[in-house]
Amino acid sequence: MKKILVLGSTGSIGENTLNVIDTFPDHFKAVGLTAHSNIDLLERQIRKHNPESVVVSNPGKAQILKTKIADTKTAVYSGSDGLLEITKNSDYDILVTALVGFAGLAPTIEGIKRKKRIALANKETLVVAGEFIIDLCKQYDAEMIPVDSEHSAIFQSLVGEENKNISKLILTASGGPFFNREYNELQNVSVKDALNHPNWEMGAKITIDSASMMNKGLEVIEAKWMFNLSNDKIEVVIHPQSIIHSMVEFNDRSIKAQLSIPDMKLPIQYALTYPDRLESNFIETDFPKLHQLTFFEPDLEKFRCLKLAYEVMDQGGTAPCILNAANEFAVEKFLKGSIKFLEIPEIIDSALNKISNHHTPDLETIFECDRKTREFLETR
Ligand code: NAD
Ligand code: MG
Repeated sequence: MKKILVLGSTGSIGENTLNVIDTFPDHFKAVGLTAHSNIDLLERQIRKHNPESVVVSNPGKAQILKTKIADTKTAVYSGSDGLLEITKNSDYDILVTALVGFAGLAPTIEGIKRKKRIALANKETLVVAGEFIIDLCKQYDAEMIPVDSEHSAIFQSLVGEENKNISKLILTASGGPFFNREYNELQNVSVKDALNHPNWEMGAKITIDSASMMNKGLEVIEAKWMFNLSNDKIEVVIHPQSIIHSMVEFNDRSIKAQLSIPDMKLPIQYALTYPDRLESNFIETDFPKLHQLTFFEPDLEKFRCLKLAYEVMDQGGTAPCILNAANEFAVEKFLKGSIKFLEIPEIIDSALNKISNHHTPDLETIFECDRKTREFLETR
């Protein structure tokens, strides 16, 4: 029986993780859950899974939850300190990092230091501190298994292979809701249009990132660190059906891929069961019904965010951290309706021009860079 700590259990990946845990009660038990503020859903999850402890980031809401679940044995902690506390001190085997944004970095570090398996959904962690995190995993001999579907596909394709034989990774992208729109049409797209993803149901932030293709940009950087490859070995291809979840090309030009009907439960389950596989009831892939799989080149002029991500990856240092903080800031503003969709890359560009890049940052510099970028954008 593996004990699972799910950071961000009330989100899309968090709920899917609890679904997988539910399907295999003899294999997995959720021992810890965390949420930012949705205490109604967290209460339902507590009553179903009986975790030993939970964290609510919002202190006021944590207090309300404490009263509501006084009849249970679950301990309630609060704030970002609570997140560190639960990752540092609770008893678990696998840490699922299903919380969104920069907030995922600090607790992930604690999980690594405890030599736990990290089922990494929080791609922002590798974007802002990839080199540091990979070195830390080596130092503490902690295992990192990707949850992101593209990286899971690559990870699965690499079983039995050696890194030196990889000629390139080919990350597939659905293209998002605006794949078929002209650049000019993006000027006035609404929040609702941007939240209408064709293939995946996900949290708001990553859905907007998918519409701007920043998500693919973050994934390119995530892949660079996770698979230890040089920047020129990572390509993106648009594949609107999202059946091929990504591919690896080897030196002999042989290509391996992983395919399935899109369902995040599959990569989540694999990250929990690896190297084993458990029988699932996911939908079978019926090729004659699919008829065709298509591929296109990404348009970097239309999707400026993807271009910016490639640029910061080449710049290195804290540039990806600046990009990430500015993107989180801009996406939040877009979701609130205070900026237009095409202002997202403009805001990121302004932060990259203003905040200086530290080329060999330590962890403290990375936290400082995230804070400075947000501060600059708030007061701009
Ligand atoms: P979501 O918005 O649905 O859920 C986010 C979770 O994190 C919630 O439980 C929320 O309470 C918590 N949270 C939000 N802000 C927080 C903060 N500041 N501190 C602590 N907790 C906080 O997001 P999601 O779609 O489940 O995505 C989670 C992560 O997984 C993201 O990094 C995303 O890029 C990655 N990811 C998601 C998908 C997907 O299909 N949803 C696929 C691949 C990768
Ligand atoms: Mg992905």
